[in-house]
Amino acid sequence: MTTAAMPPRTPDLRAQAFHLITGHTRCWKCGQQTSVSAIVLDGYEEAVDDGEWEPSAERTVLSYITAIDQGSLTAIHAVAPWMRFGRSETADATYLANHCTHCDVLQGDWFLADPGEVFFPTGRSEMQDFNVNRFDQPLEIDAQCSWSGWHGWLELGSGHAQEGET
Ligand SMILES: [Zn+2]
Repeated sequence: MTTAAMPPRTPDLRAQAFHLITGHTRCWKCGQQTSVSAIVLDGYEEAVDDGEWEPSAERTVLSYITAIDQGSLTAIHAVAPWMRFGRSETADATYLANHCTHCDVLQGDWFLADPGEVFFPTGRSEMQDFNVNRFDQPLEIDAQCSWSGWHGWLELGSGHAQEGET
């Protein structure tokens, strides 16, 4: 093989639609409140061997996004311009990260998913009133999945009717 071209690669995950949830955190650098977003999948397919896709009906919140299709990235940028690729020295990786809307410093995924932080409420009282955007377009992405009890508290609308809980 002498071709210099990269072979077409297969993303880790794909979905027919996705949600973006947006809450807030206090920037570790400048101390001001800044918006932070995360992608939520309500069902997805995971790449397995031999070009097969394994469907999952589970809800998952993604972190450490190292690649994403251009159409989805453009759509996310339109509502969450603070999400863009940046290098985290802590994680020793470049990924689609939240950046402070005041001082532009990267807000690490490892921090945002710490217990008690925006993307890991340890009780309903800690749960932020997330702004939810739904994107009815296909997503192809390389990322880490997470599964946690608080994901069940998310009300994503559209197909997830309010269950009348108070
Ligand atoms: Zn800041």
